[in-house]
Amino acid sequence: MRKVLVTGGAGFIGSALCRHLVGAGVDVLNVDNLTYAGNLASLATIGNAPNYRFAKIDICDRAGIAEALAGFRPDHVIHLAAESHVDRSITGSDAFIQTNILGTFSLLEAARAHWLGLSGDGRETFRFLHVSTDEVYGSLGPDGLFVETTPYDPSSPYSASKAASDHLVSAWAHTYKFPAVISNCSNNYGPYHFPEKLIPLVILNAMHGKPLPVYGAGTNVRDWLYVEDHARALDVIVSRGRIGEKYNVGGRNERRNIDVVRTICAILDRLKPAVRPYADLITFVADRPGHDLRYAIDATKLERELGWRAQETFDTGIEKTVRWYLDNEWWWRPLREKVYAGERLGVLAED
Ligand code: NAD
Repeated sequence: MRKVLVTGGAGFIGSALCRHLVGAGVDVLNVDNLTYAGNLASLATIGNAPNYRFAKIDICDRAGIAEALAGFRPDHVIHLAAESHVDRSITGSDAFIQTNILGTFSLLEAARAHWLGLSGDGRETFRFLHVSTDEVYGSLGPDGLFVETTPYDPSSPYSASKAASDHLVSAWAHTYKFPAVISNCSNNYGPYHFPEKLIPLVILNAMHGKPLPVYGAGTNVRDWLYVEDHARALDVIVSRGRIGEKYNVGGRNERRNIDVVRTICAILDRLKPAVRPYADLITFVADRPGHDLRYAIDATKLERELGWRAQETFDTGIEKTVRWYLDNEWWWRPLREKVYAGERLGVLAED
């Protein structure tokens, strides 16, 4: 049975990855230190599975990680643990530098020491997949797509910290021949998405009759990928991706923020009709500093080389997502109450 150590498996994408791997019969160890973004409730469907276990460890704790690696002896490490919210990185960047840069460095060193201690087949098959973002490439104009060779040009503290971690991983592959691969993905959406982010926030604010505040004119463009498509891509890349390579992951689903919000309102008008159309709640607010205009991914390399394809279109994925939030109040209510207590629901952040 293949063994995969997932870091950040209690987060949005990490929990989708754990659910996918456990469902596919893979033995999973989820390592997460449960920050505000970590939520074991997102793992409720696999919590008692015999091929799933959880360890509360900070990736900066090199000895703790070394012990987990030695005890579990994974074939693959998939590294998602990170501070991931752009708006939070603008108001306080310390945790982003600590976890995304120093934490990745510490994890790399622990994983390299573990790999060096392996012999034979174990040494041959070991892979480390670093999960990153398309935001490292900066902003696109109205045309063009990010490819794997697009120069890095990050604009927020979040994307700068992810860019730094990508460079560390590339250098470890180049210098030490450490068997690492990097993936850079566009914006994810889907079930179990933290209620601070654009899509769940629009759904939940609309359901509660609250304003839907949109940055600027809502014309910023993001390329949306359903989270379960991302989880499948990560499994494919760690299993068959070439060492030292980067793979862009995206679903060719570019949408302006305002169109995302209007689509959600239209689905809710159909599924949960209110007295007035939900779009009446849209309110435009001052733009975020340094707001990148457009991200769009060319995933041709991943599609051609490894045969991955997104299964959901934006229309099918967003319908599933809205229905999931309507049906799963038990999951989002406690988080939404916590988020409101922290007064973090001022604006709609798409990433
Ligand atoms: P998330 O914020 O939902 O989850 C992050 C998880 O990491 C949480 O469970 C948190 O508890 C854990 N964590 C944070 N610091 C840690 C530490 N020091 N030690 C151990 N665990 C720690 O993030 P997400 O949206 O699921 O993103 C996961 C990864 O994918 C990140 O690396 C992010 O940069 C990348 N990514 C995200 C998107 C997106 O649209 N969300 C797109 C592309 C790439």
